[in-house]
Amino acid sequence: MPSDLVIVYHRQPYEEVEVDGRIEFRENASPNGIVPTLKGFFGRVDHGAWVAWKLAEDPSDPGFDRVVEIEDSYGAYSVSRLPLTEDQVRSFYHVTSKEAFWPILHSFKEKYDYDPVDWPTFREVNWAFAEAAAAEAAQGAVVWVHDYNLWLVPGYLRRLRPDLRISFFHHTPFPSADMFNVLPWRREIVESLLACDVVGFHIPRYAANFIGVVESLFDVDTAPRQPVNPDFIVDRAALSERRVANSLRWGDHDVRVLASPVGVDVDYIESKADLPETRDAAAAIRRELGDCAMILSVGRTDYTKGGTDQLMSFERILDDNPDLRGKLRLMHVSVSANRNMSVYEGIQNRIEQTAGRINGRFGTFAWQPVTLISRAIPFDELVSYYVAADIAWITPLADGMNLVAKEFAACRTDGDGVLVLSEFAGAAIEMGSAVLANPFSYRSMDRALLQALAMPEEERRERMRQMRATIRKYDIRAWAKDQMAGFAASS
Ligand code: UDP
Repeated sequence: MPSDLVIVYHRQPYEEVEVDGRIEFRENASPNGIVPTLKGFFGRVDHGAWVAWKLAEDPSDPGFDRVVEIEDSYGAYSVSRLPLTEDQVRSFYHVTSKEAFWPILHSFKEKYDYDPVDWPTFREVNWAFAEAAAAEAAQGAVVWVHDYNLWLVPGYLRRLRPDLRISFFHHTPFPSADMFNVLPWRREIVESLLACDVVGFHIPRYAANFIGVVESLFDVDTAPRQPVNPDFIVDRAALSERRVANSLRWGDHDVRVLASPVGVDVDYIESKADLPETRDAAAAIRRELGDCAMILSVGRTDYTKGGTDQLMSFERILDDNPDLRGKLRLMHVSVSANRNMSVYEGIQNRIEQTAGRINGRFGTFAWQPVTLISRAIPFDELVSYYVAADIAWITPLADGMNLVAKEFAACRTDGDGVLVLSEFAGAAIEMGSAVLANPFSYRSMDRALLQALAMPEEERRERMRQMRATIRKYDIRAWAKDQMAGFAASS
């Protein structure tokens, strides 16, 4: 059935489970996260479709089920699965996207690796995504493409189906021209994005960077309809103008450049935090802590997340403040990347070595300063750690948004708890009441944690009140509304 909304996202929107030799499609266990959020949009249209890739030994196998019809709590929708070989996935996703694009998007030039990129394969895979989306879309439908691994899809799609409304959302930061233009394929990528009706980002600074990149590459009319607010690293006053819409003229159409930070489902998270079993689990964690303050750090093992820098700050604090020894417990959750990439293995090793060194230097039989967890904690369990923690310590070196920071505040229905947040997380734009830290400065990092540890209860509660009010106002529904308004304006 032709669909009026086609979501193009690299991952499939369910888990495939084998039961008695047959594959069953199971809804993701938790409605938290980007996949369930995107599926929620199917409830707003007559019929929706999703395009993703699926590993196939032989992509030309006629027995391969290209399109499956799914019915789950989000309604009925089609999923078009692109059969890709292991080599294609490695090249387009693990190599081009993760070794070339990811470091540039996060402003880590030194990690950028050009040599292994096979650009024809990247084009080929993106073309296949565009063809699959074109096959699912009704006349005049909205096709919503997600993230940098599909950068070339809008351009191809426009050629295949000029009637479509095309929207693209970046879930990462978007860097300035000096950084982005390192990519030798910069013109091809930007031209593809300019084939969109809407190009979306989390925060105005990323949108402004995109416009700067366009201006650096093309002679284009970027006269703003509304002034772009290229906010400073953190501009609290920018909050009220946080959804900046700008427009530029490309060929015969307008490209709207939209900034709207993704939010979390505050109601759902609060309901999880208030469950008796969550409260019991949090109380058990607190009992285990004794008199120690609990500092919680949660992220993936990635050089952008700054895990080692954070552990080194913790070590300096214990070095410089002997009175804090025996009084702090750091729970450092660094979910290791399950892919054989040496860059990730190296970071994992450094994190393990640093945590081990701290425990070796300061630990006693009765007290271990760092608990390192490398596996993913199921969200229901993570909520009890959010509830139990005194401080959430979230200090990425670069991060498009950072949902962990928002989830922590959403969980604190008790109104207490301190968030220490990196200025370089997109979430800092909205969460100016956190204790903000610059993870590139030892002094700033150490001082922020010490400030959080010493903060009087009244101040903690006031800051948490402000953060909770903001994340409630700009929750996941507000983001959905912005996106729908963007689609509507593009018609
Ligand atoms: N998360 C989880 N278990 C873990 C660690 C993280 O469920 O052990 C979830 C967390 O709740 C959040 C997401 O993973 O929803 C991480 O999102 P974020 O934006 O913070 O970082 P990303 O990994 O997307 O860069």
